[in-house]
Order: sequence, then structure tokens, then C-alpha cells
Amino acid sequence: MDAAVSETLEKYDTDDLTIGTLGSHSALNILKGAKEEGFRTVCVCQRGSVSTYTRFPVADHIIPVDDIRHVLREETRLELKRKNTILVPHGSFSAYLTPGQLVRELDIPLFGNRWLLAWEAHREKQEEWLRMAGLRQPRTFRDPSQIRGLTIAKFPGAKGGRGYFLATSPESLKERGEDMVRRGLLRPEDLGELVLQDYIVGVTIYPSYFHSILDAEVELLGVDRRYESGIDGMWRIPAREQLEANLNPTYTVVGNIPITLRESLLAEYLEIGDRVVEASKRIAEPGLIGPYSLETVVTDSMEIYTFEISARIVAGTNTGIGGSPYSYLKHGEGMYMGRRIAKEIRKAVEIGRLRETLT
Ligand code: AMP
Ligand code: AMP
Repeated sequence: MDAAVSETLEKYDTDDLTIGTLGSHSALNILKGAKEEGFRTVCVCQRGSVSTYTRFPVADHIIPVDDIRHVLREETRLELKRKNTILVPHGSFSAYLTPGQLVRELDIPLFGNRWLLAWEAHREKQEEWLRMAGLRQPRTFRDPSQIRGLTIAKFPGAKGGRGYFLATSPESLKERGEDMVRRGLLRPEDLGELVLQDYIVGVTIYPSYFHSILDAEVELLGVDRRYESGIDGMWRIPAREQLEANLNPTYTVVGNIPITLRESLLAEYLEIGDRVVEASKRIAEPGLIGPYSLETVVTDSMEIYTFEISARIVAGTNTGIGGSPYSYLKHGEGMYMGRRIAKEIRKAVEIGRLRETLT
């Protein structure tokens, strides 16, 4: 643990903790789970989103800010410290704060490994992590002349797949990319930054895990897929009209759909989850703490390709709020990622191991 965070934690009354987060992404999940485990909750929230966290009664206290990045301001940090707050990071932490800000400026204890959050921010580092874990990945490249069939074009800094598109040749890549710029989904300069990846034909499967440092065990708590506009709207349009309209869909995430897996796939997904944790320990001690997730595609020959890793709670776990099949199998009724996090913090306080679960 970094010295500034350690200093903050030393002043905390650990019998009177508050669990906090930023108001977006999976905040309802996190805050509800914290309340169910008996914690007070605080939500740092942009003014326009306050109603979400009051009309669903999950936040005991709201700190309204003009911009979510103002969580870094001294007055906000002081208020969080006064409440003995442990922050639970989610997708908006990585989307709106830079890795440097996460590691160096946010001197509030985080439940999770902030060095892995910083690592997750770089595509090359994600690939290295997945390689270290021995997972099968789609081929990634930059040079359009290496396109060998259906290809997905991604660009750094994309938020939730917005602006991603498909191409099948260097020519269609150029044409589709320019169309994205015309539609305002990409900036002209984004075209120079494109990362290309073989498009894996199959179904997307996003497993969510929890690595308990206290129990030294990985739990598979849920599986989902994303509901993405406009690709998931395409099947409502017959092929002829799709061709006539010359559609160029993107992968903008709008929501998530829960999934249960064919049972014979579970053994491999459990093993994959374990291997990712083992690799994470070699990257940044003590490795993953608490929630993490993978984005995978399963082909019709049952091969699993992994193309993304998140070292924190993902919004797909929102489909499990209140309970889901795999969390029920492990914990019984009423367990979900937000609550599992709070349960771990509660137990860590009780057995005097809180520091091990925070960075
Ligand atoms: P928002 O506050 O909705 O703009 O989301 C903050 C960040 O989290 C953005 O990078 C979003 O793309 C991402 N995000 C929000 N909801 C989801 C979701 N359901 N699945 C994946 N990413 C999401
Ligand atoms: P990402 O931003 O990496 O999470 O990707 C956004 C979406 O693009 C995913 O949810 C998938 O639907 C799709 N996608 C990304 N990479 C691939 C791939 N290599 N093959 C197939 N679909 C992909």
C-alpha cells in the first residue's frame, strides 16, 4: 500500500466505515450491497445523476460535484476521509481518471488493486496479462495489409465499444472509418490510432469472478453478455434491407443480459478465472483483489477466445443484483457482486485483515 493511502487508513475508525463510489456504472449494485451488509454509504455524483441514487434509496449521503473528476479535489477527499470511506472502483474510475491519477492522486483506500487498474488501461498490457495466463486471444495488429477476413476495428479510449466497426479489407476499412467520422462517432485523428483484431465468429460470454484474498479462492458469480447498439438491432432487419441501406453498425453498450452457461463449459471458465489470478500476482502483488471480469467469445467448436480483462467490478454484474444462479449456488439467496464486496470488507474488519484487501 502506498504511503499516502496508508496514512489515510491509519486515521480511520474501522468500526465505523463508509463504503463509497462514483455515481454511475455499477454504483447501485455496490451501494445496495454495502447497505445490506450494514455499512453506511456515500456516492460522489454529478448533479445530473443525483436522482438515480436518491430515488433508488441506496446512498446515505451524496456528495454532488460538477464533474466526476472532482473526486480528486481536496475538499471531496477530505469529506470522504472524515467518513472513513473505502472506495469501490468501477468502470467510470478507469474511464474518467487517468492511470496516474488513480495511482498517485486518489489517496483514499480502494477495495481492489489500483496497480492492476492502471495496467488494465493499456491494451498491450492487457494482452500481456492474458498471455501470461495462457489464454487464447484473437490476433491483434495495426497494419491494414494484414487483414485476413472479418476484422473489428477498435480505437484507444473508446467508451463501451462506441465507434467500433467491422471491415473485411484495407479498402472497406478506409471507407467504413470515414463513414464513422462523418457520423460523428469517430474523430479524424482516431483513424490513425485504430487497432485491428480478427473478428471471432461465435457468441460473446462475459464471466464475472470474485477473488477472495481472505479465503484464497476464486468464485464465479455470474455470466452476462452486452446488449449493443446498433449491432444487436441488426437481426430485426432482413438481409436485403441491410444490404440496400448499407448499414455500418457500432458496438455501443446500452445494457446487459444474464446468461447461464452450458454446464460442461464451467470447468474451463473456472480454470481460466484461476489462471488470470495467478498471472495477476506476478504483475502486481497481491494480485487481483475482489471482482474482475473477462470478455470472451465461444466459437461453434467450443473454443474460448478472450479479448478483454477488467480488474474491477463490471456493469454486467448489475444483472445479478438481488441474486443470480451462480451466486445462489455458491452463497444461497440474495448474494451479488456489490454485496460480495461488502461481505469481504466486513469479514476483513472482523478478523483484523482489512489492510490486505485495500490498496
Ligand atoms: P457512463 O457513466 O454511463 O458514461 O459509464 C461510464 C463508463 O463505464 C463508460 O466508459 C461506459 O462505457 C462504461 N459502462 C457503463 N455501463 C456499462 C455497461 N453496461 N457495460 C460496459 N461498460 C459500461
Ligand atoms: P470491447 O470494447 O473490447 O469490450 O468490445 C466491444 C464489443 O465489440 C464487444 O462486446 C463485442 O461485441 C465486440 N468485440 C470486440 N472484440 C471482438 C472480437 N475479437 N471478435 C468478436 N467480437 C468482438
